[in-house]
Parts: sequence; structure tokens; C-alpha cells
Amino acid sequence: MEKQRLLVFMIDALCETDVEYMRTLKHFGWMLERGALVREMYPVYPSFTYPCHVSIMTGCYPDKHGVPHNEMVQAGVHPVSWYTQRSQVKKKFFAEYAKEHGYSTCLVNWPVSAGADVDINLPMCIPMGYKGDNPRQFLDGAATPDAVDRYYWKYGYLLCSMNRMLHGSYDDFTNAVSPDIIRDYGQPDVMFVKMCDLDTVRHKLGVESEAAREQLRRHDCELGVLMESIRRYGDFAHTNFIVMGDHGQTDVSRTINFNRVLQEAGLQTLDAQGRLASFDAYCHSTGGSGWIELRDPQDAALRERVHRLLLDAKASGQYNLGYVFTREEAQAQFHLIGPFDFIIEGKKPMAFAYDPAAPLFEATKPGDYKTAPGSHGGLPWLDHRTTFFGCGPAFAQGAVVERASLVDEAPTMARILGFEMEDIDGHCLTQLLADDLR
Ligand SMILES: [Zn+2]
Repeated sequence: MEKQRLLVFMIDALCETDVEYMRTLKHFGWMLERGALVREMYPVYPSFTYPCHVSIMTGCYPDKHGVPHNEMVQAGVHPVSWYTQRSQVKKKFFAEYAKEHGYSTCLVNWPVSAGADVDINLPMCIPMGYKGDNPRQFLDGAATPDAVDRYYWKYGYLLCSMNRMLHGSYDDFTNAVSPDIIRDYGQPDVMFVKMCDLDTVRHKLGVESEAAREQLRRHDCELGVLMESIRRYGDFAHTNFIVMGDHGQTDVSRTINFNRVLQEAGLQTLDAQGRLASFDAYCHSTGGSGWIELRDPQDAALRERVHRLLLDAKASGQYNLGYVFTREEAQAQFHLIGPFDFIIEGKKPMAFAYDPAAPLFEATKPGDYKTAPGSHGGLPWLDHRTTFFGCGPAFAQGAVVERASLVDEAPTMARILGFEMEDIDGHCLTQLLADDLR
């Protein structure tokens, strides 16, 4: 097979249920007609953006790659820093393998990639709540200097506000720089372009809103511009186009503040201002699940007491708890380790509050993504699935795989480019690929 190229278009919060509608859109429809599809792509646990993106890029689950959450959680502290640096990831990126094997590589807006060893990198590394006028300070030292120099003066203002629905957004910046990169540098052999706005719209307005469809139409046009850029300035005939998501979303109507239950049990105290004063046990939010951290994980009596409390809370039916996992169970079943001793999750999906002073139950509302009406961050099978489809010379037209995991994506792309990744969890989805790659 001749030299293959990859253009990966990542749509945050793309749901497997979106595929039927996408068939009616110009560019997605063109790909779906000619390509191969994974109907249900399982996210990793928790189904949060950063752990999922890192699993896609490394072919590994969170216990191996080391990024279990978007945020570096700390009991009682909000907001906290997000993971940003490539050095925080313990496994090598697919894109770094590709560079080693002689492919030119480019990442646009990829999470936890600041400082990655690729040819052109404009990472997602501006703090989420940032609203100032100098986002360049975060790109310096994290992005490729030449790319910052070429594009920041022209498009940097699009990053100046993180209020995405009204002003600039990561996506506006990404849509501006990506076609320019293809024209100015020539088409990178491997290019990842990550879009955020579908996730934002779903968090605010729900999973199946008309606004979500409008956003899918917008993403279709954006993909069309990238395709046209490759037609004009690249090698369309040898490009494999891939559309993927990181997780789906689920509509939830209420949040639970499980810290209230811990306070009631004498395991946590707040001060007069409602700030955390002390804790033996604390519940962090991963959106759809709660991570219970113990003050002293070595304290066997405390551990036993909290475990009993969680099992009783589940059995009581009072809190809609459906799942209690110990840290050992979480690693064995989900390949997840993190700053927790137990994980709890709703029987029916609900969101976990991040503020220990919030009411026990409360309606979800737009604002922080963890407690918004559209939610994710829970078990991989609880309505949080995404999808994956590819078309181009490496894919078998019409091939369908019913179920796979995000960790299978990197080894599948590696097969297309003709190399193997070492010591990873995923497997190549050979059924998707053309005969000579199987
Ligand atoms: Zn996401």
C-alpha cells in the first residue's frame, strides 16, 4: 500500500445516536457512505474528556496513562488546575510513534499535549475559567513556536474569551488555524483536529436539543473546509479521514451532594462560610460518578466504616445509588486508579455536586460541566457511548464493528501507518480495514 495519511476530526461529546442524522449531512454523509463504522465506541471510566482523549492517543486505560480526570482534584478546592502537560502522561502518544516512523505530525487543540514531541502543536492548554486578554502566555513553552509566531497575531483574539457561545472559542481558533496549517506547511501526514462546541451546547441545552443538531451541521461544514484544504494543498487520494468522539452525554435532571451524607455521619465538617473545614471522607465529582477520598487510606477502621456507610446508603434506596466500587474493584473492572478509595454512581444517571455546601439534591443547571443538564463522567455503558468512522484507502467500505473501546483506536491507526505500539491495552480493529492491512 502507498504511503497513507490521516486526518482525525475529533468531536467532543459525539454520541452514537448522532450517526443517523450525520448520514444526511454533506461531508459526514459522504464519509459514512464510503467508509467503515464502529457503531458503539465505549469510553473509558470515568467518561470524561481528558482521560478519554489520553486513552485515544495512547491506546491505554487510565491506570496505565495516568490521567484519571480532567482536573487535578483537591478536597474542598474549586476550581483547580486541569491536566495540560504531555509530561503528565505516562505512555507515548500515537502521534509521537508516527513522528518516529517518519510521518509529519500535527495536533490542534488536543488535551494534555502541551510539549508533545510532534512537528506542529497548538495544544489545548488555556485554563478553563480564563477570561483575560493574553492567552499567549499559556501557549509559550507549550506550543510549537513557529506555529504560534505564524498564527497568533492573526487569530489569538479568538482565544481571549472562554465564553464560547457568545465570543471566541477554542473551535473558532481551531477552524482558523487548521486550514492555514495545511496550506502553509503542506498537509501533515498525521493531523488531529479537536472540536469542543458540541459538548458545550449539550451541557447547556441537553443531549438531543435542536442546538445540538445545529452544532453538528456546523461541524460538518468545518470538516468540509479541512477536506477542501487537503484537496487543494494536500494528497486527498491517500488521506484517510476519521471522525471520532470521546464520550457521549446523558440528560440528567438532578445533582446529588453526597458530602451532605458524609457530614451527617460525622465524617466531614464545614466552617461558617460553608467551606470544607475537616474531613475523614470527601466526595469529589466526576460528573456522573463520585470519588470518595479518605483522609487516611491506611486507616483500616475508617475504610471499613465508610465502605459500610456507602453500601447502606445504596441499600436504603434514599439516594438513587446503584453502584459502589472499592479502589481495587475500580482497577480490576475499569483499569482506573486515581485519588479515591471508593467510587459511587447513581442507579439512574445523576450528577455529583462539587461544592460540599450544596443542597443534598438540586436541579441541574448550566454552569460547571460537572453539574449541567447534559452530563457525562460515569460508567462506560450508561448511555455515554460515542462512535468512530473512517473512510479512505485504508478502510473497508461498508465494514461495521458493533462495539469497541477507545483504546482500540490508536492501534488501528498504527496499523494503517505500518507500525506497532508497545505495551498498550487496545487491539487493532482489523475488520474495519482494507484487505491488505488485515
Ligand atoms: Zn469530552
